[in-house]
Amino acid sequence: MRAAVLWAAWATHGHRNEGDDVRPHMLSTRTRRASTAEATRLWPGCHIPYAIVTAANCAELQTPCTQRDRLFTPAAAEKLRGPLAAVAEHIHEQTGCTIAEGPGEVPPLEVVAGTECWITRVGYHESVQMQLGWCSTHAHRGSITHEFLHALGAEHEHQRADRDRYITVASSKDNCAPSAARTLAPYDFKSIMHYFIGTSGCGIGVTPEGEALLTRAGLRADDVGTADTMSQEDARGIRALYGTAAPHRPAEASVALVATLVATLVVALVAVYMCTAPKPTAYTLVI
Ligand SMILES: [Zn+2]
Repeated sequence: MRAAVLWAAWATHGHRNEGDDVRPHMLSTRTRRASTAEATRLWPGCHIPYAIVTAANCAELQTPCTQRDRLFTPAAAEKLRGPLAAVAEHIHEQTGCTIAEGPGEVPPLEVVAGTECWITRVGYHESVQMQLGWCSTHAHRGSITHEFLHALGAEHEHQRADRDRYITVASSKDNCAPSAARTLAPYDFKSIMHYFIGTSGCGIGVTPEGEALLTRAGLRADDVGTADTMSQEDARGIRALYGTAAPHRPAEASVALVATLVATLVVALVAVYMCTAPKPTAYTLVI
């Protein structure tokens, strides 16, 4: 079980130093509970249906149509579908969970326009808004993945209860302060749920023990918070949370495996033929 997977009834998240957005009015009712005790915070079937909010569909959704700056234009919505599909494919490969545009049996996560990047809740809720502003392109698919992992139930790695062994954090903002996360897995600087190391955002520094951990992981401090993809521990945590299957083998790996098996078979058949084929003898006549 991934240690940093928690639930928060109210949480708003910026990503990895950029657009740290915490709205104070949402914090007073915030509570945190261990994930395993909150089955109601799991998306049924580990499936997140989402809607890209536009003027055409806002009347059917929970985002008010009067919030004009949160509505995507049809062109912007279309442009967003590529990055969203890529992120959904990556998360599915790693966790078995599915994320797809369209209606479902539960209210959809509503993707809204804007300039920032955050999500209003961690885990399943009947109303969840995810703003994909500066992070709406392929170049920021790591940030989109980060927000969808919040949606699935993952908290920030740098908020783990044991984080002070590895990092120093200057800010006590809601998305920086330590949480009651359990620490059953090693601290993971490779997590896509870790903010950047540096003076902006949470103001994260590295302790000597953290430096040693970075070295063992083959990372530099500058690498932290820059991943485009989930770490192995990120994926393992979500799979443990939902009880989903091991990741699908990427298509290219399957092709390579089949090619290797075919090559091995051919070599074996040739070897068998060479051993069993009749040998020419001294008195064979060739005419
Ligand atoms: Zn976040």
